[in-house]
Amino acid sequence: MCGIIGYIGNKNAAEIVYGGLKRLEYRGYDSAGAAFRAEGKISVIKKEGKVEKLLPYLAGVRATVGIGHTRWATHGAPSDINAHPHSSGCISVVHNGIIENYAELKNLLISEGVTFLSRTDSEVIAHLINRFYSGDLVAAVAEAVKLLKGSYALMVICERENKIVAARYKSPLIIGFGQGENFCASDEPALAGKCEKISVLEDGDIAEITSDEVTIFNGELQCVVREVSPNLAVSSDLGLGDYPHYMLKEIGEVAGSVEYTLKAFGSVKVKLAAAFSGVTRVVLTGCGTAYHAALIGRRYIEIFAKIPAEAETAGEFRYKNPVLGEGCAVLAISQSGETADTVEAARLAKSSGAKVIAVTNCLRSELTRVADVVVPVAAGPEICVAATKSYTGQVAALYLAALTLAGVEGGGLWEELEKMPALCRETAENIDTSALARKCARSRGTYFLGRDLDYAVALEGSLKLKEVSYVPGEGYPAGELKHGTLALIDKRTVSVFIITDGKLAGKCENAVEQVLSRGGKVAVLTNLQDVKKRLKGLVTVIELPACGRLLSPLLSAVAVQKLAYDAAVILSRDPDKPRNLAKSVTVE
Ligand code: GLU
Repeated sequence: MCGIIGYIGNKNAAEIVYGGLKRLEYRGYDSAGAAFRAEGKISVIKKEGKVEKLLPYLAGVRATVGIGHTRWATHGAPSDINAHPHSSGCISVVHNGIIENYAELKNLLISEGVTFLSRTDSEVIAHLINRFYSGDLVAAVAEAVKLLKGSYALMVICERENKIVAARYKSPLIIGFGQGENFCASDEPALAGKCEKISVLEDGDIAEITSDEVTIFNGELQCVVREVSPNLAVSSDLGLGDYPHYMLKEIGEVAGSVEYTLKAFGSVKVKLAAAFSGVTRVVLTGCGTAYHAALIGRRYIEIFAKIPAEAETAGEFRYKNPVLGEGCAVLAISQSGETADTVEAARLAKSSGAKVIAVTNCLRSELTRVADVVVPVAAGPEICVAATKSYTGQVAALYLAALTLAGVEGGGLWEELEKMPALCRETAENIDTSALARKCARSRGTYFLGRDLDYAVALEGSLKLKEVSYVPGEGYPAGELKHGTLALIDKRTVSVFIITDGKLAGKCENAVEQVLSRGGKVAVLTNLQDVKKRLKGLVTVIELPACGRLLSPLLSAVAVQKLAYDAAVILSRDPDKPRNLAKSVTVE
């Protein structure tokens, strides 16, 4: 996870590194640091806390080479000492990833007399490079990375050489090309407005970056050529505008996520239909919110295409020797396209002979390189760590993919989706979840319940509330309530029912009664008039616009997202940067 950025050129590196770290902060924010090279000396600044903590220390820095890091700790608590960069001799390094054999390497280096300052896995990299350094930084990095097991995106500077050396293996890294200046970063948004061209480094690449030139080598130090493409990140997309938080801004952009995903789908429809030819079984996989989208996509496939479909979290799928092969398609879903477990699940599926279809918001991500076909989620950059508009974009993309698999090329089901952006907008603008959020914020636990598609949204609602407000709870199938969770219900709990399926409404209302009988507080999100009529006055009813039954998750998602946001604000949490979390989970 974490974000890294490097700059070399004739501008002040401190300003550029700081600006890049601010844009990367969503990837990790427990500590941050930077190293700058000026007149043959390296200065390092690193602080526990958010990137802003660096600002006072950067004011005096004048340097034309710099590397920076915003951390999501994997090894070693967040602290000044454990923050990156890590240094050894004349070398400073920032690292994204996990060095799985760090303990072994650390013992080896300690036996050679090296003293370690931090508790991180990353510090071994600095000491290894220093150990191999004898006047050629590229060669030293190449030697050092041969010993690393795990994942890394690295940037290295050295007092004796006016350059940045970058290397990657299973963690993302891109080069940005400027005029008389060059950049390196974890992702394109960090370089928005800074350069027009970028190249994506591949696993095993080592890049030597000076202000005038970028040379890319493979692990054997042979020059390799990587495609140069336009930098698609637009700086204006990333502003907060008048919104207090990105989460609220991005809930407001849910309508666009559906509309643009629908438009973007045209470019891939034919290729996807061809990839689906002969498919008799589908596995959908993802992590967190993307897994919850997979649960909905699975139902779309079963309902439209009438073929078996399963959904599984990528971390489980990878390690269970899944039975795949010809006739099987794996839909791998990831907002960033860099989620380590999902990318590895996709690789495994590919090597087992399955067709791999990426469903992602980032069209130059690792997942897109593994996949046979990419179904774009056109949600635009999502900065808030908690996914909102990317989830609805994924649901829309999966709906379209399922229709394609079923050979449905137009007609009512397509038209239903075309109506959804306006309904999402209406929901985001009008829904008032603040009173319910106050109850959830005060609750001992908040449970989200539903059946079928509503159950999938219930899981997402519960995750969202936990992520941003830290209110504990569960998403649960409403029919299962009486088989366990009912024991937790009392007057200090809130149960939020999602009821949008007329044929299951009666059964859900039974569960509502069971909770009310035990003194629990109940709220119901519904777009069914008869449910509203029956429950009004008995429970809090939050009404959603009427829509096609299968697309109601797009509206109930907006409601649960807004509820989670309101609860976070009431509890004075930062919804954009929840504790302990980071976006783009590039570690396993
Ligand atoms: N494993 C490293 C650490 O804990 C890097 C983590 C990251 O990618 O932020 O410091």
